[in-house]
Amino acid sequence: MGPQPREGILGIAPYVGGESKVAGQNRTIILSYNEGAFGVPPGARAAYAAAAGELHRYPDGGAEDLRWAIGARFGLDPAQIVCGAGSDDLIYQLCLAYGGPGTELIMSRHGFSVYEIAGSYAGCRVIKTPERQLTADVDAMLAAVSAATRLVFLANPNNPTGSLLPQGEVERLRAGLPTDVLLVLDAAYAEYVDRPDFDAGARLVDAGDNTVMTRTFSKIFGLGGLRLGWCYAPPGIVDVLNRVRSPFNVSLAAQAAGIAALAEPGWVEASRAHNTRTRGWLAAELERSGVRVWPSEGNFLLADFGKPEKAGAAHAALKARGVIVRMVAGYGLPQCLRITIGTAEECATVADIVSGFMAAQTAHA
Ligand SMILES: *Cc1c(COP(=O)(O)O)cnc(C)c1O
Repeated sequence: MGPQPREGILGIAPYVGGESKVAGQNRTIILSYNEGAFGVPPGARAAYAAAAGELHRYPDGGAEDLRWAIGARFGLDPAQIVCGAGSDDLIYQLCLAYGGPGTELIMSRHGFSVYEIAGSYAGCRVIKTPERQLTADVDAMLAAVSAATRLVFLANPNNPTGSLLPQGEVERLRAGLPTDVLLVLDAAYAEYVDRPDFDAGARLVDAGDNTVMTRTFSKIFGLGGLRLGWCYAPPGIVDVLNRVRSPFNVSLAAQAAGIAALAEPGWVEASRAHNTRTRGWLAAELERSGVRVWPSEGNFLLADFGKPEKAGAAHAALKARGVIVRMVAGYGLPQCLRITIGTAEECATVADIVSGFMAAQTAHA
């Protein structure tokens, strides 16, 4: 017998990403990864190109300049920031450092699937709690806490549902958890939230020593292909992460492009304004066609076709016209499709195809 992985590893289902290719289509519209609608920020593209001549050099393992740029941009202490190869990297490190065999990790039923993979890898028992109206239920999460609980993950807004837990509820969750339980607030979509009262998590990080906020450059900053994320954490957790992470986890090109993306004039504002406008437009169009759309604070919509077969058929109809959206059966939502907010033209194409699809369904019913 050859080498065998640790117990439980072969029980982990591999992450299922969105599709990104359609055979026989020369123009494909990819709306399956929640990538920013505007592509790569021009300054980040230039910085990436400029880094090419330095690629024989190791990157700064502490990502100092990048952490300073993030700190300046978001009003945070750079000493409390840790960067990663995507926020997934940091989620893995947190699970490995704070979880382990004999411990439990709590997430909500339709929470982001990476928590389950990373938690299982660390050896944690992963507990998924029921939601209310596709929104995390704080009472259910608190009821699941046991003496073995070490980690609680909450994506806010959540992917794939788009739901946002109000600040008061997030605070109630933190207050109800034992102090030795690490709460991870995943704010991958924070920049898209258009509500004055929204706090991505920094307030709760500052309020104690047991809450971490994770962020990413993969969504609004348009750098998913580079793999760059960061977290804001209390000093004790920063210290742990800096001991366990891979010493050069963020590439030289990613650091350069990340700094430039933060400096891109008006990028976040324009992206958010486009997203809010186009998301509202597409939601209204889909509903006019007879598709239920769940409220979303992210750069995507969860379109609910009522039945798995209908969602599958809608997915096929979109794909036949070169549009790829995300099936979310793996998230326990087989009757839904997740559609990223692309350009106005891309969203108009989606609305047009879904409208034709729904009309044909009614005609055949
Ligand atoms: C996209 C996404 C991330 C970002 O992952 P990266 O590794 O930074 O690309 C994290 N959390 C959620 C909920 C996401 O949807």
